Amino acid sequence: MTRPAMTTSTMTTPTGTAPQYEVFALRYAHFADRTQGSNLIFPDDHAAPMPLDFFVWAVRGHGRTIVLDTGFDAASAVRRNRVWLRSPIDALRGIGIAPETVEDVVISHMHWDHAGNWADFPRARFHVQEAEMAYCTGRCMCHEPMRRPFDVEHVTQAVRHVFAERVAFHAGTAEIAPGITLHLVGGHSKGQQILRVPTARGWVVLASDATHFWHNIRARSPFVLLHSLEDMIEGWLTCERLADGPDHIIPGHDPAVLRRFPAVAGDADTVRLDLPPAD
Ligand SMILES: [Zn+2]
Ligand SMILES: [Zn+2]
Repeated sequence: MTRPAMTTSTMTTPTGTAPQYEVFALRYAHFADRTQGSNLIFPDDHAAPMPLDFFVWAVRGHGRTIVLDTGFDAASAVRRNRVWLRSPIDALRGIGIAPETVEDVVISHMHWDHAGNWADFPRARFHVQEAEMAYCTGRCMCHEPMRRPFDVEHVTQAVRHVFAERVAFHAGTAEIAPGITLHLVGGHSKGQQILRVPTARGWVVLASDATHFWHNIRARSPFVLLHSLEDMIEGWLTCERLADGPDHIIPGHDPAVLRRFPAVAGDADTVRLDLPPAD
């Protein structure tokens, strides 16, 4: 795959100039009963199994801890028929991150499986794209198919955090810690954003639902749930421009992430993304 030309600023290598961080993917839930036909607009094989995993992500280093997405709780898992493996909050504690001390939480988008559990982060500022908050509180939510991936309790909670001055609004690109930037891509949801992190193996892009699986971005095969197909496809180009290679783009729901990256000691559901994949 040809990658588009980079600008000089994004070509800066992490080594030397930018700090390097540890990056974790923490799996907390699973959804086995999915096929290509239920995941892709243009499936090659309708009946082929294509299960989803659910993750939160964490970035740590240089005195900073940033959590990307906050997952859902046990009650939502029952309501939406997902297999609950553990609390994402407990998963963070397992790698030594105390949620009550975390100061920066990035919400990739407000879908129900990414935006719960805010009460567990009493000191955090929540970084959200303006476009996403406008979308999930706007007229589109009058329509059932458009509000289906949102949970009114999460959205209400987010509005309360706006009033408590605990939401950091972004409109496009922003640096939220030295070398760590978030980028608006839209596509899957109107204000979908991705997080770019400098690591020892280069620039890693935590794409979340900008690409659910590696298959989406690599085969140019869009996921079924979207706000703008045009923006989703342009978002893939942005991921490729910002990451140091195809394996530096981390998809939001791909079970292959756990298989490919090295697990942390004693926790097979948590892997290090700042280390190279095994294959
Ligand atoms: Zn989503
Ligand atoms: Zn999702």
